[in-house]
Amino acid sequence: MSHDAIVIGAGINGLAAAHVLARKGRKVLVLEQRAAADAAPMAGWVPPAVFRALHLKRRGLTVEPLEPWASVALDGGGRLDLGQDMPASVAAIQRLSPTDAGQWPSFCARMRRLASVLEDLYQEPAPDVETTAFGELFRLGMLGLKVRRRGRQATIDLLRLLPMSAAELLDEWFECDALKAALGAASIRHLCQGPRGGGTAFSLLHHHTGCRAGVFRQPRTNVQAVLDQLPGVEIRRGARVSRITVRGGRATGVVLQNGDEIAAPLVLSGADPRTTLVDLLEPGWLDPELVRAVRNIKSRGVTARATLFVDRPAPFRTLTVGGSLTYLERAYDDAKYGRVSARPVIAADAQDGRVVAEVQYVPHAPAGGWTDAARQALGETVTRRLDEAAPGFAATVTEARIEAPGDLAATLGLSGGHAYHGELTLDQILFMRPVAGMSRHATPVGGLFLAGSGTHPGGAVLGGAGLLAARAALAAS
Ligand SMILES: Cc1cc2nc3c(=O)[nH]c(=O)nc-3n(C[C@H](O)[C@H](O)[C@H](O)COP(=O)(O)OP(=O)(O)OC[C@H]3O[C@@H](n4cnc5c(N)ncnc54)[C@H](O)[C@@H]3O)c2cc1C
Repeated sequence: MSHDAIVIGAGINGLAAAHVLARKGRKVLVLEQRAAADAAPMAGWVPPAVFRALHLKRRGLTVEPLEPWASVALDGGGRLDLGQDMPASVAAIQRLSPTDAGQWPSFCARMRRLASVLEDLYQEPAPDVETTAFGELFRLGMLGLKVRRRGRQATIDLLRLLPMSAAELLDEWFECDALKAALGAASIRHLCQGPRGGGTAFSLLHHHTGCRAGVFRQPRTNVQAVLDQLPGVEIRRGARVSRITVRGGRATGVVLQNGDEIAAPLVLSGADPRTTLVDLLEPGWLDPELVRAVRNIKSRGVTARATLFVDRPAPFRTLTVGGSLTYLERAYDDAKYGRVSARPVIAADAQDGRVVAEVQYVPHAPAGGWTDAARQALGETVTRRLDEAAPGFAATVTEARIEAPGDLAATLGLSGGHAYHGELTLDQILFMRPVAGMSRHATPVGGLFLAGSGTHPGGAVLGGAGLLAARAALAAS
């Protein structure tokens, strides 16, 4: 059976790309190395462009805002709850700092305005800053105009904020440690940087996309499950691609690990750029300089997922451990020297019969290696720290399961165990994602496109990269 296109990987982006191609009449085969689908809900923004392209509303897509989105454990006991409702959050902040409560609405309004700029940028191809083509220059001009239309203050805010650290930004606005910690934790998600690192203010803004004013944690969605069920493409699971074949500078198909060869004139890869271009692509087709740039993509996975099974409902809905920017930065200090944080930053969510926590910083390859003993120690640390914030919690935990960045590297094939296929640092966004000159999803090999979150617009924008990659492939074919 012949196919018009092969998509490597049945992640959200791979599936989004596959369905966009299928809706344009292409016969698409998706090859996924994992044997079973993992349809766990995920936090992120599903852009309206993806909604519309795949008619997701009709397919039962759910978007569930977290309430509260942050509940920060206070040092002297109690918590700061920040929710979806602005007046309720103001009242909660008021109890800790009347000054900050006064500042909160205007901070939130200004951040929302800036996030809306990113939302525009993330639904279109990355700006091509090297272009001399009239159409692209016009598009760049229109993008600039869209920023200007948000007013003089928004333009200044955007230019000032981009290179700032989250700590600098937050120190300008607030005095309350717990409030700054709630925002600081959002600014370091999946970053090998502390909140005092340059560019973390941008990361805060990135993770504000798709949220209402005053909310800095993206909603949870079942988009992976919806895409898994969508008819129109063939998904073959347990099919690991070991090579992308090329003839005369054009992709001709793939070879599976079991030796099967499958031909197609179009190959879109949802695997990360380094895996795709260095490990899977037949060698010799890329310029050595480009290979060097791809090898140098920063993908330092620092986030572990802890799943704590509990025998009764947790005494919280969400819980953030890490009550000040100093706490967050100290947690990062350990990672700088290759150690797992002794006092990690923990963002825990209670779900059915379990608590799922993102734990940072857990280096991909900690000094001393990643062992079962290290896994067990981390499970105990997470349980203990949550128990300090919610006394009695530890007694309800029946089992702790840890997935470290190294486990993700093994199961998902993620370079460096980085969930976003590459860090969202300022040198790895927009026209520089994954590397300068390749942000439009096309590669130097004809018919081969990058469709995963290692490309523009990056992780946490669910399906965004897949949609843009499919459109680029359609335009080129
Ligand atoms: C602890 C943790 C928390 C996370 N939290 C979030 C979150 O809150 N929000 C968010 O947006 N993302 C989150 N992620 C990341 C998320 O799982 C996705 O990895 C990410 O959204 C990127 O999606 P993607 O479709 O681009 O790639 P992926 O989901 O990584 O999909 C790529 C697919 O390609 C497959 N593949 C790779 N190589 C091959 C090969 N050679 N042959 C066949 N198949 C191959 C992989 O198995 C995988 O299924 C989290 C991940 C972890 C581990």
